[in-house]
Amino acid sequence: MVTIGCGRVQSEQAVALAEAHPEVYAVVGVHPVDAGRGNWRDSDIDWIRDLARHDRVVAIGEAGLDYFHERPTPEDQPRAFRAQGALAADLGLPLVVHTRDAADDTMVILRDLGLRDVVLHCFSIPQYLDEALERGWTISIAGPVTFPRNTELRDAVTRVPAGRLLVETDAPYLAPVPMRGKRNQPAYVAHTLACIAHLRGDDVADLDRATSVTAARVFGW
Ligand SMILES: [Zn+2]
Repeated sequence: MVTIGCGRVQSEQAVALAEAHPEVYAVVGVHPVDAGRGNWRDSDIDWIRDLARHDRVVAIGEAGLDYFHERPTPEDQPRAFRAQGALAADLGLPLVVHTRDAADDTMVILRDLGLRDVVLHCFSIPQYLDEALERGWTISIAGPVTFPRNTELRDAVTRVPAGRLLVETDAPYLAPVPMRGKRNQPAYVAHTLACIAHLRGDDVADLDRATSVTAARVFGW
């Protein structure tokens, strides 16, 4: 499994967890909400680069744009996003992307960056699914796919090739049905996987294997 940092302290904690547990890998970076409100310094890329050289670090992120939490002053977010995207390209690591209420601007920056190794985390932009697949990106699905009214996302997961699909928790948020409303935890990802398999008409064990193979390929373990 992958655990991810949203800022410096959490990124260091993620690396420590990965050192302590052989089944855990780390992703390091600065989340757009943490980058916003004047918190991002261009020199932050230096500690991210240093941490990313650790052999248990498999990607850069979460990086991206989040206008839900930060409207109307998101000016630091694009700088942090672009800098981390350039670093990911530099290091040959995937970029794990967070986007919320900012789909169009996120796509503009991702097209500019020209990265192929992109994981769209907590995928929420089905309107861009076709382009994401054309560009070679990986679609990571979290608990909201289990919410019955989320029809666009539930339709989208049926159109993702098995080799391009990941499942995740986004813990502690977004617990899947039937745990909705509880504090999310990694074990609950089984509910999300079972729901996706049901929607796609896949065998649960087959989809389980496929997402594990995809994670190993994308994150390089
Ligand atoms: Zn996120």
